[in-house]
Amino acid sequence: MEFREETVLQPFHSRYHSEEACMEALIAMKWPDGFVCPRCDHTGCSRLNSRRVPLFECGRCKHQTSALVGTIFEGTRLPLLKWFMALDLFLLPDGISALRLSQVIDVTYKTAWLMLHKIRHAALHFDAQELLYGDVKVNSDQYGRNPSRCAVSHPHASAIVAGCTIDEAGEPQQVKIRLLPQSRGTDTRASRRDLTAFIDEHVDRLASEVQLSTQAFRLYAPLRSVVREAWVSLKNTYGALGRKHLQAYLNEFTGRRWLRVSGTAESMRQKLLQMCIAIPGLSYCQLIARQPDRPLENALAAA
Ligand SMILES: [Zn+2]
Repeated sequence: MEFREETVLQPFHSRYHSEEACMEALIAMKWPDGFVCPRCDHTGCSRLNSRRVPLFECGRCKHQTSALVGTIFEGTRLPLLKWFMALDLFLLPDGISALRLSQVIDVTYKTAWLMLHKIRHAALHFDAQELLYGDVKVNSDQYGRNPSRCAVSHPHASAIVAGCTIDEAGEPQQVKIRLLPQSRGTDTRASRRDLTAFIDEHVDRLASEVQLSTQAFRLYAPLRSVVREAWVSLKNTYGALGRKHLQAYLNEFTGRRWLRVSGTAESMRQKLLQMCIAIPGLSYCQLIARQPDRPLENALAAA
């Protein structure tokens, strides 16, 4: 396995430098126009600051809530500062592995793993809702194949459908990459039917002009490059990934890339934060039930 030089971590320079600053940022984002009671929509409340997490008590129905309820931060015992650092690190070009995160923010491996999955879950939920529209390119491509040796079929190459929107210069903006099931190690490519299924699911047909490419030499090259970048990035960050985990990590790659190309560092962080407060986090048990890549006991012991 190749190892790159140690990932250079961006310094955590943000305006959220204290627990209070992080909490106030979440409160402002949760209720941008002021408090609204989740039970009765009343807008008057009193704020109870006696606990670590400030509570808001509705002036009409007396329901108590906090800015963390219904977000991925609900029930967390970790300082929000660590969460905010994790969000920053998640946005690094290649993301961050749970092991590395655990070292950087000084939490256990299991905690880091759970945090990353919660962040990923929120980001993916958003990505899934955003259809591609406008000038859309769709390639029937292969993931995990060295393009300089196209003639050689790689044992881990997988057939994929990749689609993207492009800007005026033709550069891919939002990208989606979908693996075809059962295609690893074969020379199979996506069929017309696979491409149509991709378009039905991920492209807003009414608002788009779609260009399909199915033959290797006709594929939209900039989109091909993104697929290659995904391969290199995932290899560098996670090493070898099992087939069953690959789609989730591809989604993470394209979701992060989209956040990065669509804004400044600050707007990117704001957008990710917004995703994180718009969706309740999965519990550890739910994640274990859903995710095949549970942390291994020996990895836990090593962390
Ligand atoms: Zn109320």
